[in-house]
Amino acid sequence: MPQKIRILPEKLCNQIAAGEVVERPASVIKELLENSLDAESLEIRIEVERGGKRLIRVMDDGTGMSQDDAFLSLERHATSKIQSESDLFRLGTLGFRGEALPSIASVSRLTLSTRSMQSEEGWEIYTEGGTVKRAGAVGIPAGTSIEVRDLFFNTPARRKFLRRDETEIGHIADVVTKLALAHPEVQFRLVHNGRPLLEVNRHGNLAERVAAILGRPLLKDLIELRQEGPEGLCLSGYLSRPDANRSGTGSIYTYINGRFIRDRVVQHALMDGYRNLLLKGRYPIVVLFLSLDPELVDVNVHPTKHEVRFRDQRLVHDFIANSVRDALRPSGWLESGRSAPMAVEPAEERDSEPLVMPLAERQEGGRGVLPVEAPTPANDQARRGVQEALENYGRKLGQAAPDAARFAGARQHGPFAMPEPQPAEQGPPGFFSSLRLIGQYRRSYLLCQDEDDLVLIDQHAAHERVGFEKLRAQYRQGNIERQALLFPAVLELEFREAALLAEFRQDLDRLGFDLEPFGGKSFALKAVPRILGDARAEQLVRDVAGELGSVGKSGLVEEALDEVLALMACHSVIRANQDLSPAQIRALFAELDQVDFNGHCPHGRPVMKRLALADVERMFKRT
Ligand code: ADP
Ligand code: MG
Repeated sequence: MPQKIRILPEKLCNQIAAGEVVERPASVIKELLENSLDAESLEIRIEVERGGKRLIRVMDDGTGMSQDDAFLSLERHATSKIQSESDLFRLGTLGFRGEALPSIASVSRLTLSTRSMQSEEGWEIYTEGGTVKRAGAVGIPAGTSIEVRDLFFNTPARRKFLRRDETEIGHIADVVTKLALAHPEVQFRLVHNGRPLLEVNRHGNLAERVAAILGRPLLKDLIELRQEGPEGLCLSGYLSRPDANRSGTGSIYTYINGRFIRDRVVQHALMDGYRNLLLKGRYPIVVLFLSLDPELVDVNVHPTKHEVRFRDQRLVHDFIANSVRDALRPSGWLESGRSAPMAVEPAEERDSEPLVMPLAERQEGGRGVLPVEAPTPANDQARRGVQEALENYGRKLGQAAPDAARFAGARQHGPFAMPEPQPAEQGPPGFFSSLRLIGQYRRSYLLCQDEDDLVLIDQHAAHERVGFEKLRAQYRQGNIERQALLFPAVLELEFREAALLAEFRQDLDRLGFDLEPFGGKSFALKAVPRILGDARAEQLVRDVAGELGSVGKSGLVEEALDEVLALMACHSVIRANQDLSPAQIRALFAELDQVDFNGHCPHGRPVMKRLALADVERMFKRT
């Protein structure tokens, strides 16, 4: 039998390795930036064209390489960072596999230019698909520049997997954000198609860097944490107060020994520390660095080093959970002994942050969805969350002095707008309109009589349902009524959020949000769905974009749409603990009659309960 097994050629090996390391332009940038950081650079400039598909260039002022090293760096398993097996457990660098450069070179046209401090002149090597085509001396400043053109030009199948420029640049910004947060001492500049996208100067401390990257207004919502633990464990960084939160895990930045890692144990521990402080489906904003003896953690379990393995998982978990809990305690958020999940109640009036309703939880692997209460059907949880939040909101509103002028002024549109009594319509009245109104109970429930039965209606659930159905009908007709904002709100976003907004701008537009790019990662919000009125829309826009992002462009399916619309309807509802005049109640009933209650309507809590006369009589032992 002839020999069948062959050793693969070097080039093919590199391409296979590239499959693991190089998924998209952002992964190229991650590897190049890690190399620049390992080379002790203080200034790094990243230039990208067409989402990195046409060009990626990373320039640094680091140590540079000698001529020999420059050639070697393009060889597989060539690294200056480790020498022996024991080094693997004493890693002080981000890289160590010696795979990145040859892998990237094998699937692109790569130019490496580098000069070390010690050499007079630099050296430039041009490769195509991993083959060296040209090399020669060049006069350049000390440091290294790597240019990657036409990524995947020789692997068209992989090129097809690349997404739109906006999506790719979003991933790139995400990578830069993660590395820049961990290196405040380094200046980063990211330029896309000639336009600066991110610029951070060298900073003296983490707080300044966090402000520069995640937005300065966030600082006031952050609590500093610094905690030393057993076995040399150390945790430091910033945590958000529970009322500053997000709809996804995207603002959780966790690092292990300086390396960004999204680890299940760490994530779980974090959420454990926040237990009972966040509504279901809400996540904190976190920038946290865990450092520990490299012997206690193995980072060599995944080619992109996104996962780790701890020697003692329990120890790390409990240390993080306890540190987080302790850090949150002095601020008065944590009330010991409270075990039931509770809605977040702001200690002080914080009208800058609107209350946001949780979405039904998506069981999506890898998103780090960690239940904080016993699992029950997802919808039910969302509903309960909504209820708690609404009650809270209601309480908040109840405390505020009623603002008559505002009510009057907003009569025709805002969320405070009371439905106007409708002119009597022809035909028989609908079910709700035919009810005999008895009165309002605790400013929240409407008591009515239907024939002989007693009917109770939850006024804010009813209003929410009406809002949801209206929005859905308007959406289907392609014209959600919108209201221009007198003063456009400028949203300062994270890069990832900005990329999402850019990507889903059209979808958001269909939903009634008029957004305009406002330079960098800012957007001006010029109009909002009318039904929201003056409810602060900023958080909502973020959440809606996040929701769309998690569903994906192609999957903007009815179900997700319902969630988005329910989210919007929730924002418009502020009707608990509010006196309603009989005319307003009649108007609400008229609107309820327009709603198709028999249709599928997955998001409503019960709007109405009925008590039969017989039941009442039994209660009083009259039968
Ligand atoms: P690794 O980072 O795992 O060692 P790479 O393929 O990423 O492997 O890089 C190979 C080697 O090239 C590195 O070990 C380093 O010595 C050198 N190198 C790569 N990029 C730079 C840079 N920007 N500045 C200085 N040296 C670099
Ligand atoms: Mg490397």
